[in-house]
Amino acid sequence: MTDDLLARHQAVLPSWVTTYYGDDAIELVSGSGRRVTDANGRSYLDFFGGVLTNMLGYDIAEVREAVERQLATGIVHSSTLYLIRRQVELAEKIARLSGIPDARVFFTNSGTEANEAALLFTTNHRRSNQILAVRNSYHGRSFAAMAITGHRSWSASALSPVSVSWLSSGDRLRGRMKGLSDAEHIDAAVEDLREVLATTTSGDVAALIAEPIQGVGGFVHAPDGLLGALKKELDNHGILLIADEVQTGWGRTGDHFWGYQAHGVQPDLITFAKGIGNGFALAGVVGRAELVNAVPATSFSTFGGNPVSTAAGNAVLDYVLDHDLQANAKRTGTILLDGLRAAVGDAGIVGEIRGRGLMIGIEFVRPGTTEPDPAATLRVFDECRKGGLLVGKGGLYGNVLRMGPPLTLTDDEAREGLAILVDAIRTADAEA
Ligand code: PLP
Repeated sequence: MTDDLLARHQAVLPSWVTTYYGDDAIELVSGSGRRVTDANGRSYLDFFGGVLTNMLGYDIAEVREAVERQLATGIVHSSTLYLIRRQVELAEKIARLSGIPDARVFFTNSGTEANEAALLFTTNHRRSNQILAVRNSYHGRSFAAMAITGHRSWSASALSPVSVSWLSSGDRLRGRMKGLSDAEHIDAAVEDLREVLATTTSGDVAALIAEPIQGVGGFVHAPDGLLGALKKELDNHGILLIADEVQTGWGRTGDHFWGYQAHGVQPDLITFAKGIGNGFALAGVVGRAELVNAVPATSFSTFGGNPVSTAAGNAVLDYVLDHDLQANAKRTGTILLDGLRAAVGDAGIVGEIRGRGLMIGIEFVRPGTTEPDPAATLRVFDECRKGGLLVGKGGLYGNVLRMGPPLTLTDDEAREGLAILVDAIRTADAEA
């Protein structure tokens, strides 16, 4: 850093806005392709894609040109007053891709707001503020979004506009730790749902919200089909399903365009954010017209679907489809997963290597146990940085290394990052 930006950061930003690297904070100043450069001129391969935000990578000509064309118009703008061509175009594409008949798209600026909107649509439709959520989930940081976030330190409880019941068995790890097969796990989850519904006292439940793969929770995926099995039970009660696809959408999981498609289910509402703007603030919810249209007309967002973000969004989505990035995510994700399993699958600190497409998590444990090891995780994380690779960390116990590289990752870059990861894990394993 050319000046002490960290000290300046700490002097004016809230104390809880910490950087990923603490005292070794990095200031990124530019990016190109899958690489970013810091203020000292050091280049890193970015396996976290921003925060899964730069789905195409950095400085992508198609996105830059679309945004520059829009900027050149002078930014005539207001979502709430005039027609916006780029917004209509993007909504048409997302509605078509959602699989929801007669779908409507409501644009917001963040995933949190998208989930707020989805909660509004479902609670309004069902005339109930009761929501089902999944333990270990993450849906954002507004009051309602925190209330449905399945971590004790987040759930906002009494002051929240929604009342929440928890489903514990959406957490695949619990099933695995109990030694359940996928089928047994699904049965247990349905049983859990039935029990929750039998004991819910605050009126009819409006909706279940779930991430097909838990992101912040540590890239934990439910067994295939679990959401579909739950939906059958929900349908008996008229309860709606919201799929939070903020991390899992647009082909990232390789096998499917949306994460929920691994579950043989069609959600009533899908929320999206992060990657679709490739760095620009763009998010929203797509859902059944009868749900979306029914809320009061005052429910709009000033900047939601603004011309610049939607110009970027159109370019991003066209790029994803034109270049079949879903297939690229599957192929490069397989290189990483297979490579990791072969090289460090039996390392003592590696509890589990899991993933789908380019959403890959490595869970670290104390050797010979299933006890989480956040210290080993941190060690690997730091070694990766030293080796020139940026990754994410997290999970309920802080013991998961998370990777969500841009979907444009090349095979060579996958192998380059893999080599750094393997070295980092071996180093940390030798010290454990
Ligand atoms: N939902 C999921 C699954 C997320 O991972 C996130 C952010 O990490 C959000 C919602 C909140 O999105 P945002 O930070 O854009 O408000």
